Amino acid sequence: MSLDDRAEELASDLGVDKEEVKSDLENLVSYSVPMDEAVQSLRRKYGDGSSGGGGSAPSEKDIGDVTTDDSSVSLTARVLTVGKRSIQTQGEQQDIFEGELADETGKLSYTAWTDFGLSPGDTVQIGNAGVREWDGQPELNLGESTSLSFLDDELDVPYEIGGEATLHELQSGDRGVTVEVAVEEAERRTIDGREGETDILSGVFGDESGRLPFTAWEVHEVIEDGDPVRVENAYVREYRGVPEVNVSEYSTVTPLDRDIEVGEDATQVSIAEAIAAGGMYDVELVGDVLAVRDGSGLIERCPECSRIVQNGQCRSHGDVEGEDDLRVKAILDDGTATVTVVLDRELTEDVYDGTLADAKEQARDAMDKEVVAEDIRENIVGFEYRVRGHFSVDDYGANCDATSFERTDDDPADRARALLTEVES
Ligand SMILES: [Zn+2]
Repeated sequence: MSLDDRAEELASDLGVDKEEVKSDLENLVSYSVPMDEAVQSLRRKYGDGSSGGGGSAPSEKDIGDVTTDDSSVSLTARVLTVGKRSIQTQGEQQDIFEGELADETGKLSYTAWTDFGLSPGDTVQIGNAGVREWDGQPELNLGESTSLSFLDDELDVPYEIGGEATLHELQSGDRGVTVEVAVEEAERRTIDGREGETDILSGVFGDESGRLPFTAWEVHEVIEDGDPVRVENAYVREYRGVPEVNVSEYSTVTPLDRDIEVGEDATQVSIAEAIAAGGMYDVELVGDVLAVRDGSGLIERCPECSRIVQNGQCRSHGDVEGEDDLRVKAILDDGTATVTVVLDRELTEDVYDGTLADAKEQARDAMDKEVVAEDIRENIVGFEYRVRGHFSVDDYGANCDATSFERTDDDPADRARALLTEVES
């Protein structure tokens, strides 16, 4: 049944205007509320006694007991974080508020569709909040049919109030976060926004715990200047497989009057851990190179989009004059899983032990481009490497864009250290 049909049926059941029901329905569905649940919640909103749940208020629950089987709940909770965001629904901008709520038994994410005036630290009694499933977890929807009152007695919760976090602690989906960071890179870009062309900033934040990429959806000069900043009310979402800090129009950015010492070490993880996390920025892996994949060595890229050109054809731009480049796609295995490590030209020149010009000359002499990949294979397959880079996971598997790629055997100090750890443990 189409959304239009569902709206028609619902409107006639409830005796209300179809367009109104349809617009509510579209709204809920656009936030990934399943259709049946959306219909149920509208039945409640428009006070349909026959739906069963309409008349009786849901009983008060502990947050730890809320499951995705609940359709609506009432509870008492402490507000941990509040993030404000503007989203587009049916061609209109709407402000929403998101964050986490907690009691003694657990915490939950919430989205408030109206401004209840929530602040971190508030203790609130919430009646009839919708429950939806998000990423397999229950999440609260606070809407027009939700009642909310502020309590004077503070609820003690075993969680930190406010969204202060280090970059290493941030995960995709976090809302209302506060970070104090150094601006490692910031670049102004012009994009086609909702209201025409607009300038944004993208780059990399760093703190004691590590680094994360960011996008600022408007140009904050203090970020562009590269000074350390405190960013309040940012959110984190996944972009190209890694978490990214988003600085929105509601975020507050203030200069920081202290220096941030950016941690130099990447977090060392197993390949299985990085895959389980769905991607990680700036990590270190150690494993054996099992193979060098096709499409390595001397390759051609489209001058327009940098995609690989095969037989003079770019997938997007058709017939093009390809530009020569070097890269390696190496399969790395650390005993927990495998990942394709991608080396750029510079790192490839290191493992090939020659320049792009050398590679072209070798290929010309042999009248075969494959000789370059063959040499690289001989140089790296079967050896253990320490790889630093950005780990991402997509439908085609796990990739690590390497920023460094070093043979562990080449470093006697490392071997000595590893040996020492072994002896000591
Ligand atoms: Zn192209």
